[in-house]
Amino acid sequence: MQSYRTKIFEIALQLLVERQVDAVLGFRRGTIPMMSQPILISSPDEVDQLHWDSFCSSNLANYLPRRKDRVAVFAKGCDSRNIILQILENQIKREQLYIIGVPCQGMVDRRKVLAALDGREPADVSERNGMIRVSGWNFKENFSRDEYLQENCAICTHRNPVIYDELAAEPTNEQREVDRYGDIHALEAMNDDDRWQHFEEILTPCIRCYACRNACPMCYCPTCFVDESTPQWLGKSIDPIDTRTFHFLRAFHLAGRCTDCGNCERACPMGIKVRQLTKKLEKDIKQLYAYEAGLSLDEPPPLDTYRPDDPQEFIR
Ligand code: SF4
Ligand code: SF4
Ligand code: SF4
Repeated sequence: MQSYRTKIFEIALQLLVERQVDAVLGFRRGTIPMMSQPILISSPDEVDQLHWDSFCSSNLANYLPRRKDRVAVFAKGCDSRNIILQILENQIKREQLYIIGVPCQGMVDRRKVLAALDGREPADVSERNGMIRVSGWNFKENFSRDEYLQENCAICTHRNPVIYDELAAEPTNEQREVDRYGDIHALEAMNDDDRWQHFEEILTPCIRCYACRNACPMCYCPTCFVDESTPQWLGKSIDPIDTRTFHFLRAFHLAGRCTDCGNCERACPMGIKVRQLTKKLEKDIKQLYAYEAGLSLDEPPPLDTYRPDDPQEFIR
């Protein structure tokens, strides 16, 4: 990660000094351990605030829609795929962007590390040679990065940026043998009643804070359907029907557009596994349309296109 940091400083400094971009969108170290914060800098003097570590999980594509300036953005594999989708959906223009690709080795799940600390308060974190060292009052603990990855990162098959102007490091090895859909196969094997009950249990703690929606780089509508009042599509309460409607409709809006970046699940204060809904649709879209979201600027999502030979079973 140290070599990443050095390279990231160099690239950002050059872009700003040469005025190739108006701003650089990256990360700075968070104010609490294991939290890196998105930051937008516009002066070479601010470059030393940039940071990169295994907790730079946020998908920076979330900050791009409707920007008017020319901006450099650091992009992991998932970020780059969401950038492609946003370009395809006219949320940002390719020529506005200088994409600094960051080959990714997976991001560490802060919640898993905190659980392993079992109530001990982390005061500092560092990393070296694939190990995360967390220290606090009277303790130092080492964790293997690979054993504490976020669930989506552990099964990610597109860690290298798919679009970039410059790479910050050599491409990383892609994971080819992972089973992306183990949990979805288990859901599909349930009978309807059990599956309904499963989602009832998952969604019951939802407080409708919409953090999952706000964190999603593909949820950029100026007025979300949940906020519409004429017509009002659903109520504002945490009535179970309204809550289910929100989640099911949001998932359908993400069909063929979700990159499984995990931003939604990370943002949820209730620990709700919202990716189970989007991942089921990801699997269906892959099977039905041989399409994975955000891999090519020449391929818009299937629900944005019409082909006479599209499968039509869903209509019947
Ligand atoms: S989803 Fe893939 S590219 Fe994105 S942070 Fe995780 S491992 Fe990296
Ligand atoms: S639904 Fe979640 S996992 Fe999918 S793109 Fe949005 S934030 Fe990422
Ligand atoms: S972030 Fe969690 S609690 Fe908030 S609306 Fe989404 S699923 Fe519900």
